[in-house]
Amino acid sequence: MMVVVFAIDALEHELVEEFDCKNLKQVTYGKTDISEFNQPRTMVLWSSFMTGENKEEEILAKGDEEMWKTKIPLEETFFSNFENPKIIDLPGFSYDRKQHDKERELLKKFFEEAEDQEEKKEIRKEYNQHGLKHHRKIKEEFLNSLEKDHDFVLGYFSAADVIGHLNFGNKTLMKMIYNDLDEIAGKIKEIRDDHLLVLSDHGMEGVGMFGDHNEYGFWSFDEECDLENPKITDFADFLTSLK
Ligand SMILES: [Zn+2]
Repeated sequence: MMVVVFAIDALEHELVEEFDCKNLKQVTYGKTDISEFNQPRTMVLWSSFMTGENKEEEILAKGDEEMWKTKIPLEETFFSNFENPKIIDLPGFSYDRKQHDKERELLKKFFEEAEDQEEKKEIRKEYNQHGLKHHRKIKEEFLNSLEKDHDFVLGYFSAADVIGHLNFGNKTLMKMIYNDLDEIAGKIKEIRDDHLLVLSDHGMEGVGMFGDHNEYGFWSFDEECDLENPKITDFADFLTSLK
């Protein structure tokens, strides 16, 4: 028996509905309640998820740059309740720093340094390609891990967030990303007939052409369960109980 978590940054509930992503919705789905947090920050939310505790104060105290270096020890996370967990690219745990530093560097270049539309167009292109290449790599690693001898596998996918920040107003591109995520959820079910939680840290709302984090996340589960408007800190116990 394996417990699988498909962790998606910034998966937006309204777009899952609009694009009717059936595999992402599963049997039960809804929004998560992240109102206990002052800001919907990626590093804060995933750190709180894996420890089952609100880590906002601790993570924000590190400052905007340092927080990305956070590496929470296995024994402080609920992953340690499993025998052989595999955690792919999760912020605060097994995050590919080089990849994500580059994303933030390109974003900064786009918003603060580009001098004209032509330059912005080039940066956006490089940024999108960089994000999508990483997405394909993680997808392969995640699906391969489902065939191995793990009792817990979590794959973290940043594309909806990364691409969304610069392109949320581009419905065609966002639909392509959501369709691909939906296809991955379908493949997970083909490979494993086990429990699957789909979880996002926060959603996203449009700001002109761009996207910004909003005040609720997304969750879905493969069968009826008693989670109702869950907090992101509720999943540590929930997932452990599935063992
Ligand atoms: Zn995020």
